[in-house]
Amino acid sequence: TRAIHEFDGTVDSVCPFCGVGCQTTINVKDGRIVQVDGRDGPANENRLCVKGRFGYDYVMSPERLTKPLIRRDDAPKAGDIDMRFMKVTDIFREASWEEALERAASGIAKIRDERGGGALAGFGSAKGSNEEAYLFQKLIRQGFGTNNVDHCTRLCHASSVAALLEGVGSGAVSAPFTDALKADCIVVIGARPATNHPVAATYFKQAAKDGKKLIVIDPRRQELMRHASHPVQFTPGSDVALLNAVLHVIVDEKLYDEQYIQAHVDGFDALREKVRDFSPEAMAEVCGVSAETIRDVARTYATAERSIIFWGMGISQHTHGTDNSRGLIALSLITGHVGRPGTGLHPLRGQNNVQGASDAGLIPMMYPDYRLVENADVRASMEDFWGRSLDPKRGLTVVEIMDAIHAGDISGMYIMGENPAMSDPDQHHARAALAKLDHLVVQDIFLTETCWHADVVLPASAQAEKWGTYTNTNRQVQIGRPALDPPGEARQDWELIVELANRIGLDWQYDGVGAVYTEMASVMPSLKHISWERLLAEDSVTYPVSEPGGFGNEVIFTDGFPTADGRGRLVPADLRPPDEVPDEDYPLVLTTGRLLEHWHTGAMTRRATVLDDIEPEGIAAMNPREIGRHGFKPGQMIAVETRRGTIQAVLRADREVADGMIFMPFCFNESPANVLTNPQLDPFGKIPEFKYCAARVSRVAQA
Ligand code: SF4
Repeated sequence: TRAIHEFDGTVDSVCPFCGVGCQTTINVKDGRIVQVDGRDGPANENRLCVKGRFGYDYVMSPERLTKPLIRRDDAPKAGDIDMRFMKVTDIFREASWEEALERAASGIAKIRDERGGGALAGFGSAKGSNEEAYLFQKLIRQGFGTNNVDHCTRLCHASSVAALLEGVGSGAVSAPFTDALKADCIVVIGARPATNHPVAATYFKQAAKDGKKLIVIDPRRQELMRHASHPVQFTPGSDVALLNAVLHVIVDEKLYDEQYIQAHVDGFDALREKVRDFSPEAMAEVCGVSAETIRDVARTYATAERSIIFWGMGISQHTHGTDNSRGLIALSLITGHVGRPGTGLHPLRGQNNVQGASDAGLIPMMYPDYRLVENADVRASMEDFWGRSLDPKRGLTVVEIMDAIHAGDISGMYIMGENPAMSDPDQHHARAALAKLDHLVVQDIFLTETCWHADVVLPASAQAEKWGTYTNTNRQVQIGRPALDPPGEARQDWELIVELANRIGLDWQYDGVGAVYTEMASVMPSLKHISWERLLAEDSVTYPVSEPGGFGNEVIFTDGFPTADGRGRLVPADLRPPDEVPDEDYPLVLTTGRLLEHWHTGAMTRRATVLDDIEPEGIAAMNPREIGRHGFKPGQMIAVETRRGTIQAVLRADREVADGMIFMPFCFNESPANVLTNPQLDPFGKIPEFKYCAARVSRVAQA
């Protein structure tokens, strides 16, 4: 074992992976990160999962981009280009920073000046800091002249946020996940925390061990169910039926909190009317859950002194994702399980800074702090603040931007740290769109699949190489510190955004990340009383803070909601089937998600040696019974096909996957699951239906 005195230095920072936001200590020796330890942060109390502890060496990968690249004039730009089998020099040539930045900026300015700002778009990243998100959306709005700016929140909790803003006036969680320890009943639905939020899962397991009721609801079995008082496996896509049946029991048996509803909630009569026909007996077959279990879940949740709900992509990534979230909000509001410690609504945020990036305005319909771009008064105040007139129309979302490229409406993009060539649904369509762009600038640390289509690639900094703040799922704003310098000629992301801004006609002057934070905080009331200096001193502050120097409010909605009239709003949901249901040709349900060891599109974790050694290849998981029915054998290569394409993957036997289902992670570029997924959107949150489409499987002939 290595003694601590052998390190050359240690730096306190935060984990770069999931939204839990574990605080870390990075240990450096001979200019390399050699060990990462957990710190006593509010979200992790010294704990780390396998990604946080062993996933750090991607930072030192020999694959890091170290010089700016410009696409060669003779290089192909086709949608199906696959650089895994090509040399970088076949496509790109190295360039000086001056040439690359000038090429990047002049291409953007040309499109803006000839076609207008609406012909441009930008994707920022939830992996970046709050300061980078703020600067990026400011550049797109102020410099490009459009609200076509979005990021991967559109692919994860956009529907949850749509429902939360509509129902309770805020997209943020109402209580931290550590409040599971104060709850009497914990509901985890459509989330797999042991895989995707592993340190948060330790709190849920502890609560169960302490005797609290733990209700885990998911179409796939999962590890957390072993700790649950109520493990409930239900039919995929039947979320609204199940939630309405639970609401039916609470209404029918008068388990709701009449006093709380009268004081704080509108819409109860319409909800009561809607759920009347959703008796557990009527819904049992639809959901694949017995009426008795539905009643037990409803009674356990409603009658507990303190109940809290956690949810994830299983709720949000549906064409009825907003309806699913509306059901959860209704559960919380009619029972008064909100606004007190141990109660509330908590959409578990996926990426390390997806909360912060959304707060900072990296979304097409809102400025920082969720103020609508279409509100003339709000827009006037931002025009005043930024000194430019701004686009009055809301911008396009992630998938809409790809469609707009195909339609010829958008011809230039700036993408920072996002990898839509892997993360977008219907991947062939997305990659063909990227290839069709007249001008694509990608800023990243690796030559990602998105870079394959770029005209200019700007080598940027990894999280362990820069200052910045990150807001985790608990609304805790935390500071990240640099442990290493970026490799070669790679530069800080915020500096590159400023370079582009000034080369397309703006005049931005910042003397460091702290100055960016201070400007951002001055237009974000949510960050009141949280100064850069305070973050440097305290490392983590929860927003909102009510008074100078005061503690952050961990629990919000203690006396009503931040809506126009201070009241919550119930929105009943109807049954709508998934967009594409199994049929004779495609008889199985395909669902996608993540693995414990890999994070999102795998750009980082697939270059982390330990993590990629544990999960090194693309898999398709099916129940052993289903495998037997198909006459397959685990370990063989199979083809998975949907109406959008076919890919091959190694078949894995997995008892957690229900009969009739296939599960595929979307992080493997050799088996890219998003070739298969359905781009159909939820009408409110504009999120695609990653969790459900019709598929079929077949044997692959061995060579
Ligand atoms: Fe990092 Fe999330 Fe693991 Fe914590 S739980 S160490 S934040 S990946």
